[in-house]
Amino acid sequence: MKNKDHDFKIIKFEELNWKQIEKLDRNKTIFFLPISPMEEHGPHLPIGTDYLIIRDAATDAIKFLNKKRPDMTFILLPSNPVGYCKFSTDFPGSISVSGKTVRDIVYSVGSSLANHGFKYLIICTYHMAIAHLKGIYSAMRKLESKHSMKVCEPWGPFYYSNQIEKSEPKLGFDTKKEVHAGFRETSLMKYQYPYLVDESYKNLQSIYRDLNSPRVLGKTFKQLGLNEGYIGSPARADADYGRWFFGLTVNVFVKTTLDLYDGKKIPELPKHIINATRLLFWQ
Ligand SMILES: [Zn+2]
Repeated sequence: MKNKDHDFKIIKFEELNWKQIEKLDRNKTIFFLPISPMEEHGPHLPIGTDYLIIRDAATDAIKFLNKKRPDMTFILLPSNPVGYCKFSTDFPGSISVSGKTVRDIVYSVGSSLANHGFKYLIICTYHMAIAHLKGIYSAMRKLESKHSMKVCEPWGPFYYSNQIEKSEPKLGFDTKKEVHAGFRETSLMKYQYPYLVDESYKNLQSIYRDLNSPRVLGKTFKQLGLNEGYIGSPARADADYGRWFFGLTVNVFVKTTLDLYDGKKIPELPKHIINATRLLFWQ
């Protein structure tokens, strides 16, 4: 029996019973794990900005995939509101866990599934802090080596390799400097959750900092003079760009998921980011 609604239904892990999970075809089931912290995003965006956007992007990616590959099963795991964001904890609302905790959560989820024969896991995060990625990537390597799981984190390699800038519409300013709660994220939220964007964003001055500079290492946002908690130019925010950016994110997740499944080479973090995660002490 073919049920149209069923084809596009998102299967949520928490709604299944173990019998249903047991019946799933191990070779045709892919799990999606959204994981991004509660973190201050300036005076104008909610602390769940990364959390909400990545959960929605994973959901839309699954909708696409359900249509594209009806022979397969895509399952959305519950979103994890955790991540490393110590540098912004001098604002209320930021909740930081250690990179090790991120690693343990991702590894525990993956290995619990792998112990029952599941093979595919997509880690979905919008939070790009190095200590956060260190946790995710060390869990991924362990899942690959100990459980032969096929795991990937699609957004980091895309974000850190200038591909957004290469594909985005011409804007006349450098979006690479829009690091945190700036033009990009404010645009995304204006598109996805306009009622959660405080109107004050229109009057926020542009503030830039290079967070990759060695001088800023270990400093908190306030120690860097970021007294409002954003980096970039939120006042430029534009819902159309937000729509485009959200669609781009969904496409990256769809493509990387299928490439992983089809055994194609999937993008990796650029060398300098891998080195940065290796050099960083667990914190
Ligand atoms: Zn963010």
